[in-house]
Amino acid sequence: MSDDPTHGETCAVCGKSTDGNPGTAHLYHDGRRFALCCPMCLDLFQRAPVRFARGEHRETLLQQMLEEIKWQDSGR
Ligand SMILES: [Zn+2]
Repeated sequence: MSDDPTHGETCAVCGKSTDGNPGTAHLYHDGRRFALCCPMCLDLFQRAPVRFARGEHRETLLQQMLEEIKWQDSGR
């Protein structure tokens, strides 16, 4: 099929190309489809789909989320 809708997609979290990645998950948010290349990216996306969908600067967003996760996990 030449009209594969996943062609040319990139991971919504890390920005890597998901072409030919059989582990790619797809999630719908606000009527848009997002590709997630691995379980970790899927998990991160699910923590803040609104922020990813809003097109926030990815690296800043990721950094903030990882800080948050670190902070939450340090209590255990
Ligand atoms: Zn990814």
